[in-house]
Amino acid sequence: MIYTTTHTGMIKKILLPLALLMAVNAFPQTKSEPETDNGFPFPVRGLCIAAPQPQELGLFLKFIDEELAPRNVNTLVLKVDYNFEYESHPELRDSVALSKQEVKKLVQVCRSHGIRLIPQVNLLGHQSWAEQTHNLLRVYPEFDETPNVKMPEKYVWPNPDGLYCKSYCPLHPEVHKVVFVLVDEVCDAFEADAFHAGLDEVFFIGEEQCPRCAGKDKAELFAGEVRKIRDHLAEKNRTLWMWGDRLINGRSTGIGEWEGSFNGTHYAVDMIPKDVVICDWHYERPEQTPVYFAMKGLSVVACPWNRAEVARLQVRDMLKFREHSNPVMKVRYLGVMQTVWAPAGAFLAAFYGQIEWPVSQNEVNCFKALFEEINAHLPE
Ligand SMILES: [Zn+2]
Repeated sequence: MIYTTTHTGMIKKILLPLALLMAVNAFPQTKSEPETDNGFPFPVRGLCIAAPQPQELGLFLKFIDEELAPRNVNTLVLKVDYNFEYESHPELRDSVALSKQEVKKLVQVCRSHGIRLIPQVNLLGHQSWAEQTHNLLRVYPEFDETPNVKMPEKYVWPNPDGLYCKSYCPLHPEVHKVVFVLVDEVCDAFEADAFHAGLDEVFFIGEEQCPRCAGKDKAELFAGEVRKIRDHLAEKNRTLWMWGDRLINGRSTGIGEWEGSFNGTHYAVDMIPKDVVICDWHYERPEQTPVYFAMKGLSVVACPWNRAEVARLQVRDMLKFREHSNPVMKVRYLGVMQTVWAPAGAFLAAFYGQIEWPVSQNEVNCFKALFEEINAHLPE
């Protein structure tokens, strides 16, 4: 108590390393995210985009080589899902999918530019989209958290079932035997030291009709799944990345039911391991939630989508947060990552002026603005 009221330089010198030491010991890390590199303002300067279709690979490699590298992009999260010729589970492959040799071309070009390649497969949520059930639940319908909710012929939101996307049941005894084999195989192929599990917009969790989950606490179910994935990755010294929306109280913050949670999963923010990297997406305005995650002991990447002015503000916010924080908090503001939700081919076509589709064009403009803003803050 004496020390906390004595603001002398000497006490600070003693207490600061102690605090750092305690913080490190309290939250053992699987692998420390880098603090910064080569004078860049923050260590993560990312792009998240769907993995290209095989026929788009050549253009995508050129894009990495000629557009990402010169802009100092150093992190590429590729949404792979079932666009890979899984050997462990060929029944889950898309009909057209990247081969291992094609993936190695991505690995090679990223490595040559020092770009960290992180594959993504959506786990837990996002197991369907509109009228379409994705591969996992199509092949293994027994993993469905809500088998009674039938896929509509014509999808509309809102709907009486509350169907946004299907989820798998996190307590099904067989589901991780399948998905963790996929995770391992995709991480091995991409030679990745981190994996992005999605985990966004999980609306169906702990449903009454699930014999395993009914009556269970939704935050505990969500946190349990995060921990299970994280622990599996940690066995091979890999870090878990995930979207942050389920960890934000959508009601009390006014952030809403998409960028935040309305079903109580947000309490999981205090239950998940601290070495999980949170991708904090906000597209309408630069919500100040990176501070919330950092104060919870979590490292955070701010993510824009389609508004250039929001992207620029997110860069300036992250710089400000780092500048105005103590050393313990500062290093948790990892950086920024552009998200692209159009197919990779559509994004590339817009980027190279081959199509005029506003969705892709706005993503292209946002991406360019984001990296202009980052690179404007490089040291002289
Ligand atoms: Zn269940």
